[in-house]
Amino acid sequence: MIQVQNLSKRYGSFKAVDGISFHVKEGEIVGFLGPNGAGKTTTIRILTCFLPADSGSASVTGHDVFGESMQVRSNIGYLPESAPLYPEMRVREYLNFRGKLHHMGRAVREQAIARVVKSCWLGDFVDRLIGQLSKGMRQRVGLSDALIHDPKVLVLDEPTVGLDPTQIRETRNLIAGLGERHTILLSSHILHEVEQVCTRTIIINKGRIVASGSPAELRTQVGAESRLIAEIKGPEAEVRQAVSALNGVGEVEIRAVDGWNRLGIEPTNGADVRESVFKLAADRGWSLREMRREVASLEDFFVKITAEQKGAGL
Ligand code: ATP
Repeated sequence: MIQVQNLSKRYGSFKAVDGISFHVKEGEIVGFLGPNGAGKTTTIRILTCFLPADSGSASVTGHDVFGESMQVRSNIGYLPESAPLYPEMRVREYLNFRGKLHHMGRAVREQAIARVVKSCWLGDFVDRLIGQLSKGMRQRVGLSDALIHDPKVLVLDEPTVGLDPTQIRETRNLIAGLGERHTILLSSHILHEVEQVCTRTIIINKGRIVASGSPAELRTQVGAESRLIAEIKGPEAEVRQAVSALNGVGEVEIRAVDGWNRLGIEPTNGADVRESVFKLAADRGWSLREMRREVASLEDFFVKITAEQKGAGL
């Protein structure tokens, strides 16, 4: 649905997007995650034909964004970071106007308005002035505008910025529902949002893609993804020595907590060492009072990856 190959964009001498490649398949909800200034909006503006790239290629539903912008625009719905709306218009009037810009006839427009009002939960507000709506409601009007021509692909740039927690939750649920009918690329710098809604995440930092995958795949890329926490009662030096000698055990961190040894065990190559630790404790007659896997969050990954980039001076 979306194909991006080696895309680059400079502003003067500054490289905002630096040779990125990615794809979004039909039916996916893909998160485009990165800190402020990472290059998300620039990439999105290229994909939605608002900005030319310096090099590389990009296509949406098989149409080249540079050579076939009319076809791309008719297949893509775009919700910019701050959707430009007309405050003096009523919601229905505004959507009607936007439908006309898509060359939709009256009957088609009416059907389309009914469809987007329903899918964006605007039923009670359709005859209200846009200027009198809350920010959350205006965001939904922006979303219904992006959907009016029933595009296959929906591109949302930071859709929850400036919303309160209730509005954020509503918008998130709304987006998840829209994913049943549309392929979605969702830009965000909020990890939680992406983790909740998206099936796959592309992480961008300083104009480059630094990782991509499902939340589970990203987690396995974090060194500490399945660190094992165990609490064993026994002589500390012996416990350390015996646990460290187990197959599949890497680094072992040990700390005394009310007479117990609290171990942080790093497995090698994702090994599951729970059974060996349990057997060891049983064989030696040591008590074992806790054993759990500490699963890293996407947040750990995000912090790690962006810190690595900083460290490398990128
Ligand atoms: P944010 O979440 O803050 O919107 P972003 O990931 O969307 O960030 P972009 O808006 O694409 O990032 O910006 C990428 C970089 O390019 C930033 O450093 C930004 O300051 C710079 N930039 C963006 N637009 C322009 C412009 N028109 N002229 C010069 N520099 C720009």
